[in-house]
Amino acid sequence: MEQINNNENSAVKKRLPRRSRAAAKTGLRAEERAEKAAVKRGALKPARAEKAVAVRKSKETIKTEPDSVRTDKRRRTERNQKAVKIIFLGGVGEIGKNMAALECGNDIIIIDAGAIFPTEETPGFDLVVPDITYLLENSKKIRALILTHGHEDHIGGVPYLLKEIKVPVIGTKLTLALVDNKLREHRINDVKMQVVTPGQTIKLGCFGVHCINVNHSIAGSLAFAIDTPQGVIFHSGDYKIDLTPVAGEPIDLKTISEIGARGVLLYLGESTNIERSGFTMSETVVGATLDRLFAENARRRIIIATFASNVHRLKQIVDLAVKHRRKVVLSGRSMLNVVEAAEKIGELEIPDDVLVDISRIKNLRDSETVIVSTGSQGEPMSALTRMANGDNPSITVGANDAVIISASPIPGNEKLIYKVIDNLYRKGANVIYESIKNIHVSGHACCEEHKLMHTLLKPRYFIPVHGEYRHLKKHAQLAEELGMPENRILIPDIGNCIEITAKGGLRRLEDVPSGARLIDGEGIEDEKASTVIEDRRQLAAEGLFIVSVAVSGCEVVGEPAINSRGFVFDFHRDYNKEMREVINRAISGYDLYRGSVDELKRTIKRALKNYLYKKTKQSPMIVPVVVEL
Ligand SMILES: [Zn+2]
Ligand SMILES: [Zn+2]
Repeated sequence: MEQINNNENSAVKKRLPRRSRAAAKTGLRAEERAEKAAVKRGALKPARAEKAVAVRKSKETIKTEPDSVRTDKRRRTERNQKAVKIIFLGGVGEIGKNMAALECGNDIIIIDAGAIFPTEETPGFDLVVPDITYLLENSKKIRALILTHGHEDHIGGVPYLLKEIKVPVIGTKLTLALVDNKLREHRINDVKMQVVTPGQTIKLGCFGVHCINVNHSIAGSLAFAIDTPQGVIFHSGDYKIDLTPVAGEPIDLKTISEIGARGVLLYLGESTNIERSGFTMSETVVGATLDRLFAENARRRIIIATFASNVHRLKQIVDLAVKHRRKVVLSGRSMLNVVEAAEKIGELEIPDDVLVDISRIKNLRDSETVIVSTGSQGEPMSALTRMANGDNPSITVGANDAVIISASPIPGNEKLIYKVIDNLYRKGANVIYESIKNIHVSGHACCEEHKLMHTLLKPRYFIPVHGEYRHLKKHAQLAEELGMPENRILIPDIGNCIEITAKGGLRRLEDVPSGARLIDGEGIEDEKASTVIEDRRQLAAEGLFIVSVAVSGCEVVGEPAINSRGFVFDFHRDYNKEMREVINRAISGYDLYRGSVDELKRTIKRALKNYLYKKTKQSPMIVPVVVEL
C-alpha cells in the first residue's frame, strides 16, 4: 500500500515568502498578538477585541491592498462561492451499490463504490456495479475515493472503478485490507491507498474530509463531515449507536454534536432501518445469547453461520470458544479472507491452539468443535448451503449438530435461507435462527437513533440515502416530524445531480448518465444497452432453436437441420416435419446473387418465428446458421 502525501501545507509553504510564512504559522500579526494578550489579561473583552480586529481588517482591505491582491482575493471568493454538487450514482432507491460524488469547481470526491448482487431480473450475472460514465467524463477532477466501511455494498465496485480511473483510495485499516484482497484478486497494482483513523481530517482539493467513528456491523466504520466552500456536508455512512461495543469506541457523539453546533448545511443520512421503532440493540447482547446457546448445546457440535465481515461477532464467538473449551474451524472462502485480513491488521486475534484447519476436523470431538461458516443468507454456493444439501466436502451435518444462524435474512433472501433451514432440519440438526431473541442484532440505526442524529446535527437541508424508496420517504417524514420544513428535504434517485449553496439551498439540476453495469466473469455489460439480459430471459422462458442451412455457390442445398433446447412440444404433432417445410418454402430457390447471407438468415428467422407463434403461442430464440460448402 502506497501512502499519499497529502500535506497540503507544503504547497502553501512553497508559495509564501518567509515573513508571511511566519505570519501564516501563527495566523496573527504583531498587533493582533498584543490584543490577544490583552484579552488574556482581561484588559479587553473578547467580543470587543474581535470587533477591533474585524474593523481593522476591513480598513486594511480598503487602504493597503494593491489591485492585484484585491482581484486575487475576489477570484478566491468567487471560487469559494461555487456551488457544491451532489451526484448520486447508486444506493438510493435501492439497498446496495452505494456511490455518490461531491463536486465543486475542479474537484470531485467519490464516496463509496459498492456492488449489489444480481436478481432474477439480471440472470446469470456475478455482480452489478454503478455506471461510472459521469466519473469517466470528469476523471481529471477526481481527487480521491473515500470509503465509509468495508461492506460489499460500499466497496464491491472498487476494482471496477479502479480498472478505469486511477484514483487514490482512502479508508480505515480494515476497509483498505478488504479492498486490498479484492485488488489482488483482480491483479490491480499501483493503487495509492491512505489509511485514516477517526479524528483525522484529509484535505482533498477544496474539500476537507473529517473522519468520525461510528458503530456498525463491521469494524472501522466512518461517517464523514465534509467541509465545502458552501458549508458542512455530513454523510452518516452506515451506522448505529452502540454504547457498549464489543471492541473499539462507541460512536463519537461528542464530535457529532460539536459539528452540529457549528452548523451543518446538508445531512446525507442512511435509512436502512427507518421502519423499525426504538433503538438497535448493542452487539454485546449477541454474545450473551450465544453464551447461553453454547451452554445448552454442550454435548453437540456447534455450527454458527454469520456474516464474515462482522469481525466483532467473530471475536465474540472466538472468546466463547475459548471459554467453553472448543476449537474454532473456519468454513467458507470469504470467512477465511476476512479473518486473514482482520488478523493481519490486529482487529481480530485467534490463539494458535484454538484455530483448527478444516482438513483436521475429523480429529475433533463434537463437543469440542465450533464451526464458523458463511452462508447465513442461504447463498447457493456457500459453505452452509452445501452442508444443508449434503455436498460440502469437509462437513457432514447430522443429528448431533446445533446450527445457529446468527443473522437475519436480508429482504429478498428469505426463500433461500428457509430452504437451507428446512434441509438442515431434514438432516436431523437442531437449527436455531432468527425466531430466537437476540441471536443477531442489526448494524443499522432504528428510528430513535435517527432522531438523535438529526437533533445533534440540526442540518439546514436533508437528503435521505441508503434505502429503497419507501425507506427514503419514511426518513424524510421523520425529518419533518422533527421540525424540518418539507422544502428543505429532497428524496434522490440514481442519476440525480443536486446543487447546494448556503444561500440558494437545494436545487435539482439535469440528471447525469447513470445506471448499472453487469459483471459476468471478465465481461462487463451496460444494463441499458444490453441485449444479453433480454436474450437470457427469452432463453430461460421460451427456449432456443438453431436452424442450420447449407449453401453452395449461390444456392441453398439439402434440408435444413433444426435443433432445439428448452422448448416444450405438443407430442401429437410432427413439428420437425412441419418446420422443415416452413423453412424450405421460405428459402426455396433462394439466390444469393440477389440477396445476402444476412438476408437469408432473417428470412429463416421470420418464417420459423411466425410458424411457432401461430402453432404453439411461444416465442423462443431462433438462431439461424448458414454454412457455406
Ligand atoms: Zn454496511
Ligand atoms: Zn450499506
